[in-house]
Amino acid sequence: MSDPRKASAEILRRDQRSDRSLIHCWSLADRQKAGYYVRDRVLYRNYKYLGQEYEQLVLPVNHRQEVMKLAHEIYAGHLGAKKTKERIKLSFMSPTIASDVQKTRESCHQCQMERRVTVDDRDFGSVDVIETDQFQQPELLPTNNFFVTYGAL
Ligand SMILES: [Zn+2]
Repeated sequence: MSDPRKASAEILRRDQRSDRSLIHCWSLADRQKAGYYVRDRVLYRNYKYLGQEYEQLVLPVNHRQEVMKLAHEIYAGHLGAKKTKERIKLSFMSPTIASDVQKTRESCHQCQMERRVTVDDRDFGSVDVIETDQFQQPELLPTNNFFVTYGAL
């Protein structure tokens, strides 16, 4: 057990095997169905997205929260639920991904703060839209979030 990578792989194998939420996934892998397979005693799934194939590591329930949090904050840069899911699915598989991501976003302090700012902007935005229409140039400022959001109204 001197190699920490070996130790963590063993923990992953043990957690995948003992995870009741993955029983169905193991069964699919045994029958080589739905893209599931086992390599080196680790459970994976082959995921096809936009013509590319990705190897998803199947996440045991006790590793999901940590991975979702990392993916949401670092990998997906606090993007919305759909984008966070898309990014996670390029590397990981979880049968409960939708609720995992939802929970991660709800418990994310930064996302909660940004949501509050967005709501505040909206109150002022409805007033400014009238001015924007008068100048008729919202599409000249595509990088400005404010005009992108309200220019289409
Ligand atoms: Zn966030």
